[in-house]
Amino acid sequence: MKPELLKAYDVVQEKDLTDMQSKGYLLRHKKSGARIAVVSNDDDNKVFYVGFRTPPTDSTGVAHIVEHTVLCGSDKFPAKDPFVELVKGSLNTFLNAMTYPDKTVYPVASCNEKDFQNLMDVYMDAVLHPNIYKKEEIFKQEGWHYELEDKDAPITLNGVVYNEMKGAFSSPEGVLDREILNSLFPDTTYGNESGGDPKYIPDLTYEDYLDFHRKYYHPCNSYIYLYGDMDIEEKLEWLDKEYLCHYDEIEIDSAIKEQSPFQEVHKIYKKYPVASNDPLEDNSYLSYNMVIGTSLDKKLYQAFEILDYALLSAPGAPLKKALINAKIGKDIMGSYDNGTYQPVFSIIAKNANRADEERFVQTIQSVLKEQAEGGLNKKALAAAINNAEFKYRESDFGSYPKGLIYGLQILDSWLYDDTLPFMHMESLETFQFLREQVETDYFEKLILDYMIHNDHVSMVTIEPERGLNAKNEEELANQLQAYKESLSDAKIENLIAETAHLKQYQEEPSPREDIEKIPMLKRSDMKKTAAPLQLEKSDVNGTDLLFSEMFSNGIIYLTLLFDIRNVTEKQLPYLGILKAVLGYIDTKHYAYDDLANEINLETGGMASSISTYAHSKEDTYEAKFEVRTKVLYDKLPKAMKLFEEILLHSEVDDEKRLKEILSEVRSRLQMSLASAGNSVSAIRAMSYFSETARYNDLTMGIDFYHVVAEYEEHFEEKKAELVEHLQTLIREIFTREGMIVSVTCDKDGMKAVKKAVASFKEKLPKKESEGQKAAISCISRNEGFMDASKVQYVSRAGNFKKAGFAYTGALRILKVVLSYDYLWINVRVKGGAYGCGSGFMRNGNAYFSSYRDPNLEKTNEVYNHIPDYIRNFTADERDMTKYIIGTVSELDTPLNPYAKGMRSVSAYFCGITDADIQKERDEVITASEKDIQKLADLVEAVLSQKHLCVIGNEEKITEQKSMFEETRQLF
Ligand SMILES: [Zn+2]
Repeated sequence: MKPELLKAYDVVQEKDLTDMQSKGYLLRHKKSGARIAVVSNDDDNKVFYVGFRTPPTDSTGVAHIVEHTVLCGSDKFPAKDPFVELVKGSLNTFLNAMTYPDKTVYPVASCNEKDFQNLMDVYMDAVLHPNIYKKEEIFKQEGWHYELEDKDAPITLNGVVYNEMKGAFSSPEGVLDREILNSLFPDTTYGNESGGDPKYIPDLTYEDYLDFHRKYYHPCNSYIYLYGDMDIEEKLEWLDKEYLCHYDEIEIDSAIKEQSPFQEVHKIYKKYPVASNDPLEDNSYLSYNMVIGTSLDKKLYQAFEILDYALLSAPGAPLKKALINAKIGKDIMGSYDNGTYQPVFSIIAKNANRADEERFVQTIQSVLKEQAEGGLNKKALAAAINNAEFKYRESDFGSYPKGLIYGLQILDSWLYDDTLPFMHMESLETFQFLREQVETDYFEKLILDYMIHNDHVSMVTIEPERGLNAKNEEELANQLQAYKESLSDAKIENLIAETAHLKQYQEEPSPREDIEKIPMLKRSDMKKTAAPLQLEKSDVNGTDLLFSEMFSNGIIYLTLLFDIRNVTEKQLPYLGILKAVLGYIDTKHYAYDDLANEINLETGGMASSISTYAHSKEDTYEAKFEVRTKVLYDKLPKAMKLFEEILLHSEVDDEKRLKEILSEVRSRLQMSLASAGNSVSAIRAMSYFSETARYNDLTMGIDFYHVVAEYEEHFEEKKAELVEHLQTLIREIFTREGMIVSVTCDKDGMKAVKKAVASFKEKLPKKESEGQKAAISCISRNEGFMDASKVQYVSRAGNFKKAGFAYTGALRILKVVLSYDYLWINVRVKGGAYGCGSGFMRNGNAYFSSYRDPNLEKTNEVYNHIPDYIRNFTADERDMTKYIIGTVSELDTPLNPYAKGMRSVSAYFCGITDADIQKERDEVITASEKDIQKLADLVEAVLSQKHLCVIGNEEKITEQKSMFEETRQLF
C-alpha cells in the first residue's frame, strides 16, 4: 500500500481467501474509525456497500424509514429521487438498500468502472449528508403522514413504509416470522420490529427519526465493503479524501446485546386475518423456536444448516415425518436463521390446530431424543454436507452478484466482532471437519446440547380470525375520527393545507440543475454489440443435443426437455402435480427419503419445471417438461441413473405419500399466490387471451391451485383417478422421441454427456402413438380474487401483435420509463403501492401490474391514462440517454453459466436469432423521444382489450364489484 494511504488507514488484517481465489484485507480509517473490508479478485462485477449497525429500540420502523429516506436527495445530489435516477440511468447490476433487525445496508454493483465510481459517490453522500434535515416532506412521504382532503372527509394514514409494512403484516407467515424473532429476545433489540409495525409507525415523530440518523449514521459506526476487480488504493484514497477525513471518531453504543436464556418456555399467541369463508380448523400455525449459540461460532453456523436438512427439511426427514404422521399440521417447515447475533432454529407446523400444541412439543422432543440416542441417518448427514459444499463452491446466486452475497455473509460475523469479517468465507475446512464428524457422535451431541438441553425456547402460535381486518380497520377509523374531533378548526385547515402541499411536492419534478448533478454515462459508453447466443446443435442417435460451450468450473448443467404439446388442456393441472411428485415419491430402488439423500450425495441437486416458449415470429409455441441437474463430470453416470429411476420407476400409486405431497403443494401455493400476487394476477389476466399464459395458469397458477385443493379435500374419492392421470402422463411424456437435451459445460464435459445421453435414450420407451398438438381455450373475462390481505395486486393485460403492432426495442425502454417514471410516481409515490411493473413480450403479450397496492380503481385509472402520458412524453438528450442506459443495464445483466445456457436454449425455441437480438439492441441505443411517443397507440390497443385481474382484499373488491365480470374467493 502507498505510504500516504498508510497515513489514513491501519491495515488490521491481511488474508488469503483461498476458497474464493481472493485476497482479503481488513482496514480501519484512523481519523473517523470507519471499518473497511476488502475482497480483491478478478471478478468484473464489482460490489460496494456502506452499512451501519442500527439496533432499533422500538417498533416504529425508524431504521427502515431512515433507509428509504436517505436515498431521497443529499448535499451533493439534491434531486428528489437520486435512487430512482440511478436505477433508470446507470449500468448497475444491483442497486438497493436493506433494513435488517440490527443493521442497514446500502449496496451497489456494476461491471463498468466509471459507473461503479458514480454509484459509490451517490450512496456515500446519501447516507452521510441526506436532505432529510431540510425537508420534512421526505419523512412524510416515505414514512407516514395524516391525509385530509377536505373538512368533511375522514382523516387517513399514508406513507410508503407504512403501506409496505401493512402489506408485510398481512400474510400469516410474515406475522409468524416477526413474532418468532421478537419472542426469543424480549430484552434486546431483536424484541423490536425493525421494519415497523403499522400499529406503531404513527408514533414516530420527525425529531426522533432525525435523532436516529444523527446517532447511528457516523463513519465510526459504519461497515464499508469493496469487492472485485478494481484499483483498491484509488478507492481508499477517494473514500478518505471525499468523505471519511471530515469525521472524528466518536463514541457510539450500537453493540448488539446478548439475550439471557429463559427460566421457562415463552408462549405467544397471535391472530391473523382470514377471509369470511376460510376455515378456522386446520388453519393455525404452531412453532417451536430455539436459540442456537452465536453466529461467531464458525462450526455451529454450518453444522446447524446440516442438521436442519437431516432433521427437518429433507423429504422424509424424521421431525417432518413424525409430525405429519401424528397429523399435527399438513405442511411442516423449518428454518435455521443465522443472520442475527444469536441464530434461531424453528420448527413450524402449518394447517395445524392450537389444541395440538402439547402433542406438537412432545413429538418434537421425543424425535430429538430418539435421534440423539439412536443416532442420525449418516447418509442424510453426508448428503447435506455434500450439498452445502457444492453450493458453496458453485456460488451461483441467480441474478444476485456473487460479491454482494459474500458481502452480506461477511456481516454475519463482522457486525458482532470487528476483527472477524472473513470467518464465514473460509468454510471448506469446516465442511472437511463436519464430514469427519459424520461417523462420530458430534451431531448427536449438538442435538443434546443445543436442542434438548436448551432453555432459550419460545412457542409462537398464530390462529385465524374472520373479520379481523375489518375490525382493525374500524378501530383505526375510530381512532382517526377521534383524532380529527380533537383538532381545532384551525388545525383542520392546516392539515388540509399540508395534505395539498405534500401532493404538490410529490408532483413537482426536481429542478433541472439538481437532476444534472447526478453523474451519468454517455451513449458512447454502451457496448454496441449484443452478447452472442451460444448454442451448437448436434445429434445423438436422433436426439437433438443443444450445447452451450463455456467454462463452468467442472460442473455439467444438464437439462432433459420432454415435449408436452400433446398434453390436453384437461390434463395440464395433473402435469403440475406430476412435477411436484417426481423425485419426492418412492421409486423401484429407493424410498423417497433415501432418494433425496442419494441425489444430494451425488449431484448438486435435481429439479423439474414446466416451461412454455412462445415463438417470436409465428403464432405458435413449444411446451416442455424439464428435468435438470448440475453435477461434477465424474458423477454424470450416477446422475443419469437417478434420472432413469425418477422418470421411469416412480411409484406414483403410493397414495399415502401422494396425499402428503398434495397437502404440501397446496400449502406452498397458498403462500406464493398471496405473496407474488403481481405476477400471478398478470399471468391470469394474460390467460384470458394467450395460450401460453393459460398454460402457466393451469400448471402453476390460480386454476392449478383449485384443482390441487379439490384433490386434497376429496382425496379418498378421487385418488384412483389421480394416480391414473399421473401414470398416463408418465407413459405419454417420457419417450425417446419426445426428448431434447440441453447442456452447458466445456468440451471435455460434452464428451461425457454424449455418451451418457446415448445410453440413457435406450432406456426410454418408444412413443406409443404420434398424437397431435392439443388445443387450449382462452376465455375472455375480468376477475377479482378475494383474500384476507390488506392490499391489492392490480393487473391489466392485452396483446399488441393481434392488434396489428410489431415488437420493437423501444418497448424495452418504455418499460423502464413507465416503471420509474409514470407508474412509479402515480402508483407508488402518490398511490402508496410498494411496487409497479409492466412487460412487453415478443409474442405481443403485454401487462401492467401493481404490488402491495392499497388502491384498486385508482390504479386502474392510472393505467387508463398511460397512452396520454406516452403521447405527451418528452425527454431531452440527457433523459433519453438515461432511459437507454437503464434499459441496456437490464439487457446486460451478468449471467452465470447455467443462465447463459438457458438464454440460448430459450432463444432457440422462440425462434430468436443473434440478428434479432442485435436489432433490438440497435433500436434501444438509437431510440429517440419520438420512438417512445409512437408507442401510445400500441399501449392503447392493449388497454382497450380490457383484460383485468385483481387479487386482494375482500371488502375492497366487493366495493368495486362493478369493475369485474366475476368476483370470487382466491382460496
Ligand atoms: Zn422498505
